[in-house]
Amino acid sequence: MPEELAIGLDIGGTKVAFVLADRQGRIYADKTLPTNSGAVAEDFFDRIGSLLNHYLDRNTNISGIGIGVPGPVASQRGIALHAANLGWKEVPVRDAVAARLSRLLPIFVDNDVNCGAIGEQEFGGLQGISHFVYLTVGTGLGGAAMLNNRLMRGAAHSEMEIGHVSLDPINGLPCTCGMRGCLEMTISGKGIVAQAQHHLADYPDSLLRQAEITTREIIKAADTDDSLARHVMHEAGSALGIACAWCVNLFNPQLIVLAGGLIMAAYHLLKAPMHRELRARSLPINSTAVDIKLAKLSNAALGASALVWNHRHRGE
Ligand SMILES: [Zn+2]
Repeated sequence: MPEELAIGLDIGGTKVAFVLADRQGRIYADKTLPTNSGAVAEDFFDRIGSLLNHYLDRNTNISGIGIGVPGPVASQRGIALHAANLGWKEVPVRDAVAARLSRLLPIFVDNDVNCGAIGEQEFGGLQGISHFVYLTVGTGLGGAAMLNNRLMRGAAHSEMEIGHVSLDPINGLPCTCGMRGCLEMTISGKGIVAQAQHHLADYPDSLLRQAEITTREIIKAADTDDSLARHVMHEAGSALGIACAWCVNLFNPQLIVLAGGLIMAAYHLLKAPMHRELRARSLPINSTAVDIKLAKLSNAALGASALVWNHRHRGE
């Protein structure tokens, strides 16, 4: 067995993923539990507590626990401020978990996108990189920025909300945040579905008229040259290029890492328009300094376990 292990937990809307992993990111145990969102938080934390104690009682070499949760997190205090898909507001995750453990251990809580970025830096394609931007292109569009090896943190713990920068607040498609025309309504899973539905009437021959419109169907149709699907994916790639252009001009990163289900499934469709917009909309000194790569790490719980090692390097 390795000298030291860490536990990673990723709390999502439908499931909680657990890993027991070492400093190199090798996984020794993993498990998933249903979240049962809507259940009272006390019951939820009781179940998490028994899962953690099962492993703590059998492994004396566990050094800490990292926990990823959606939405803004006051990481210094370990509080999930607003996890909409869990129905959580101001939930003291760190204290709730600590109170149920059979022994005292450091517990770190952070936003799930920050966990992804830190995990990628510990175990994936960002090792040794101290200035980077990490964008998640999945159901929504989110991001994290690391400058001089420190994650950028905002006043209300809601930094890097690049998905909710609006390109067209008057005529754009309505977004779940209440605004219109957010980047996320063009480049994300829910965005491409909304755009395909919005433009459907203009493309009477589209294959998408015959099926329920899903991310998967749009990608499949774009791969067979369906003009509506092609249009939607082209616009999505351009919007991603705009997001990257802002990031490179604002943060001057060495690397932008793209993570998330949509980018992994559709990078071949998004890549060309993304690079075109990035070059057209950013300073050459910034855009030539940056490389864009896909994330290597896809295990969110493993990303959360990296919080333990990351806090250790920084001596916090
Ligand atoms: Zn929005």
